[in-house]
This record gives sequence, C-alpha cells and structure tokens, in this order.
Amino acid sequence: MSISTRLILLLTGTVGIVMAAAGYYFVMQRQTILEGAMHNEVRAHAATLQLMLEDDFRAGHDRDAQQFINRLSQNPKIYSVILYDEQGQITMLSDPLVADEIRFPPEVRQVLATGETVEMVRRIGTRRVFSIIMPIRISDTRRSAFEVTQLRSFIEADFARARRDVAIITLALFAVIVLGVLMVTRHNLARPIRELLSGATALGEGELEFRVIVPAGGNELSRLAREFNRMADRLAEQRQAAAQAASEQLKLEQQLLIAERFAALGRVAAGVAHEMGAPLNVIKGRIEQLIERPDTPRDKVERNLMIINHQADVIERTVRQLLDLGRPVKLRREPVALSALLRSVQELLEDDAAKRAITLEFQWQDERQVLGDREMLHQVLMNIGRNGLQAVSTNGALHVETVAQEIVKEGQSFIGVQISDTGPGIAAESLHQIFDPFFTTKEVGQGMGLGLSISRRIVEDHQGWIDVANLPSGGAAFTVWLPKADPTANGNTGKGVENA
Ligand code: ADP
Repeated sequence: MSISTRLILLLTGTVGIVMAAAGYYFVMQRQTILEGAMHNEVRAHAATLQLMLEDDFRAGHDRDAQQFINRLSQNPKIYSVILYDEQGQITMLSDPLVADEIRFPPEVRQVLATGETVEMVRRIGTRRVFSIIMPIRISDTRRSAFEVTQLRSFIEADFARARRDVAIITLALFAVIVLGVLMVTRHNLARPIRELLSGATALGEGELEFRVIVPAGGNELSRLAREFNRMADRLAEQRQAAAQAASEQLKLEQQLLIAERFAALGRVAAGVAHEMGAPLNVIKGRIEQLIERPDTPRDKVERNLMIINHQADVIERTVRQLLDLGRPVKLRREPVALSALLRSVQELLEDDAAKRAITLEFQWQDERQVLGDREMLHQVLMNIGRNGLQAVSTNGALHVETVAQEIVKEGQSFIGVQISDTGPGIAAESLHQIFDPFFTTKEVGQGMGLGLSISRRIVEDHQGWIDVANLPSGGAAFTVWLPKADPTANGNTGKGVENA
C-alpha cells in the first residue's frame, strides 16, 4: 500500500471517528433539549389546568371540568387528560380514551396522599406516554387528582428527525473533508513521490539526463526533488569524466601496445640477426678459408664442409621456427610410444648436458602411448628440455619423467610428461607471459621467445595442455598433458590420421 493511500486512510479514519463521536454527542444533546422542552410544555399546560380545576372545584361546580379537559386534549402535543376523584377512581376522560385501556396507576394514590406532583413514563393501551399526575386541592382536607399525558412517539419522531439531520450533516462534512484530504495528499504528496520514484528508476537504469519536476514551495519534498536533480547532475558529470578518462586510458594503452609491438619487433629482429648472423659468420669464415687455401688437406676441407652444413642447419631451424609461427599446424595423429619419444629427446640433449656437467635423468615406467604427431611432440619436448638445460647452472640437473596418475576429461584420458630442473624457476611476474610469442628473458642470441608459444600451440592442437609451476625446492616444472592413445579405437592402429 502506498504511503499516500495509507495517509489518506489514516486521516479519513481519524476524521470519521471524531465526527461520529461529535455527531453522537450532538444528537444526545439535542435529544435532551427536545425532551426537556416537550415536558416543559406539558408541565405548563398541566399547571394551568390545575389552577382552572381547583377554582372550578372550590366554587363547587365541576361542570366546566369536562370542557377544560376536552379543550386541552385538542392540543396536538397532549394525548390525554384523565380526572380522578378523591378515592383515585376515574371520573372524566378526554374524548378518544376508553376507560378500559387505562391501567390505574398506583402513583395516583401517592399524589392523593402526599399532594406532590408525580412525573413518569407509562403505557396506555399499546402506547408509551409521558405522564404528569397533579393534585387538585378542593379544600384544606380534600384533594382529587388529574393526569395529563403526552405520546412518547411524538417526541421519538422528533428525535429520529434530529438523528437523520445530524447524520446527513456529518456525512456531508466527512465527504468534504475526505475529498479535501484526497486532493491535498494527491497533489502535495503522491505526485511528487511518484515523480521521485520514476526519477530513481531512470537513474538506476543509467538514464542520467532524467530530472524530476520540483514541486512549488519550500517544503521537504521540493527540497528532496532539488537535491535529487543535483545528485543526477553530479552523476552525469562524473560519468562524463569517467568516459573521458577511459578514452584517454584507451589511447594510452593503444600507444603502449604499439610501443610494445615495436619493442618486440626490435627483439625479434635482434634475435633473428644474431641467430642467423652467428652461423652465417662461421659459414663465411670457413668458405673464405677454403677459397684462400686451395691446397688445404682433404680431411680439413671435409671438416670445414661439415661445419658449414651444421651452421646451415642452424639457420634452417631458425627460419622454420619463424615460418611455423604463422602457419596452421598440420598434425599427423598416430599412437606414439612415450618410451621411444623420450629416448630420442634424451639422446639429443645428452651432449649439451654433458658439456656443462648437468645430470640428465629420464624415467618412464611403461609402454603407454599417446595420440599425436611424433615430430611435433618431439619438438615440444626438445623446446622445454632445452629451456631447462639453459636455466640450470653447471652441476645442476634436469629430470624428465612420465606422470603415473592419468587425468580424465570428458571421457578422454591424458598422460603427463614432466620436465623439471634445478634452475632459479620462473619469476612470478613472468609466469603469465612465458607462453606469449617473443617473450624472452634471455640475452640476445640466446632465444627469440618463440619456443614455449609454439609448444603450447602444438599441444593445444592435440587437445592437450601444459601446466607450469615453480618447485618448492627451486627450479621450474613443466608438465605436458597429451591424449592417451586408446589401443581399442580404430584410428589408433598405427596408421597416420591427417588433422589440420
Ligand atoms: P626463449 O627460450 O627463446 O626465451 P621460450 O618461449 O622458450 O623462449 O621461453 C620464454 C621464457 O620463459 C624464457 O625466456 C624464460 O624466461 C622462461 N623459461 C622457460 N623455461 C624456463 C625454465 N625451465 N626455467 C626458468 N625460466 C624459463
């Protein structure tokens, strides 16, 4: 229920109760006044009749009594006049009354005995009447009495009229007050509150240009509306400032990105220059030797040619890495025995490890097979293995082992190969960047920052993933997760499956 409806109900309810109480009090008062006035009138008539009858009786002739009684009973406010004798028996009645209808009231005896007037309400036949019984002093020792009655229904009709009038006036006043309250609350309360409510909803929905109509006058609601609009102004200003700041930030970020790209490009260019420059220098030197000394012994010529061939391989590998970057990988999916794969990686890393007295530990427990491209997977393990060797100092160690526990994802089992080293590990701030292309922390010529990004791409093309963590003992651990070849599945019979 809205506040204004509640307020209207409360106000009209209170006004209604107050007016009903006032109306009731007014009716009761009016009733008392009316009753008093009617009784007084009867009393006055009775007193006059008493005087006339006493005079008449004292003069000794009561012949005028019937005439007095009949005349008085013609008054519309008088119902009946009854004359009693000294014993309390009815001796005369006004015209319409039948003696049988009148129950002899015991109060007549009391009046005859005491000479005091008695007033009461009693019944005559089926009617209720207000009655006054007065004594008639005939002499000092003798007294008779008479009774004047007035119909209660006569007074009650007047009461009903008074009640109806009061009810009509009360209702009319109530209606006017309710209408007034309604109009005032609607105009001064309900409308401004509705306006504020729709303003709040609009602001909540981001419509910051919305302003509420400020009600006239300086009351709390108009102050609230003014404050609301001021708040909306401030919000709009803040939003504009935030949008401007965001666009400046975006511009800055774009500039930074461009700068970063140039820096990356510079690093790549330097890396490529070194990767290719160093072997090219060696090749140039050896060729110059061969040209300058045509008489060089055959075995030395052959050695020089082998060195040239080896350096050409280095250049070719660098070029292939660069080309691989932009080329979609074409996978030949086949079951690959982990033991064979790891053995071949081990053979290739052994020389480098031996030169720097690094311990190389390879462990694989069974003949499990993974599903993938042998060459590509070889490249991945070599990249990560070489990084490990580069990270450890002389006398360090590099461990390569298969993870005993397999992981099952969406019905596919994955086998992990973990390559860990005793190097310094990866700096926390670099952890999220090491898979980015061209991210490297190595000296120019030591790496171009492509090994891990290429490796991750290859592994993800196999639906696998690479986990990386720093070991508590120091050193980094890379775990390559590859799909396990299902020996029962059709595609895993040893035949290659092309997968772009
Ligand atoms: P590159 O070897 O040419 O730098 P990679 O993509 O192979 O490029 O490696 C990116 C970076 O990841 C390295 O420069 C190095 O900072 C970090 N990194 C990779 N392997 C290791 C490791 N075993 N220990 C410490 N840092 C490593």
